[in-house]
Amino acid sequence: MTSLTHSLCPCGSKQDYSLCCQPLHTGDSQAQTPEQLMRSRFSAYALKDAKYVFTTYAQSQQTANPVSEIKDFANSCRFTKLSVLDTEYNEQEGFVEFKANYFYQNLYCELHEKSRFIKENGLWRYLDGEITPVADIKIGRNDECPCGSGKKYKKCHAI
Ligand SMILES: [Zn+2]
Ligand SMILES: [Zn+2]
Repeated sequence: MTSLTHSLCPCGSKQDYSLCCQPLHTGDSQAQTPEQLMRSRFSAYALKDAKYVFTTYAQSQQTANPVSEIKDFANSCRFTKLSVLDTEYNEQEGFVEFKANYFYQNLYCELHEKSRFIKENGLWRYLDGEITPVADIKIGRNDECPCGSGKKYKKCHAI
């Protein structure tokens, strides 16, 4: 992960990774809000840090989401963009509504979810979420890449 020491954080905050999600990934600091935890989980997926994604699940969800499955999913996707739409929280529980975009094979996918977070032993953890279904977009190699780069897909996010 040293190559990312001086680059923008994958969570889309426009901050340097070292000042944004990296201290959470290394355990040097803890998420202060559900949104911070959500962003750090997205960037962990983008960086294929399956262990962090696993650790930040609520304890009741960890058996159903083993590290190996998180890793397989992260490895098969190219994550491009996170948009946080809304968030609210109190001392014990919080919600973050977001859209996450990623490529899976030759499909451009959007996960639109309202996630629920709870505090466990003083730390924010991801419990579950309500998903709004969004149709995947099939991309041809000569189409414009849906990530917004303006390049052809085959010169951009194609495998
Ligand atoms: Zn970040
Ligand atoms: Zn692209």
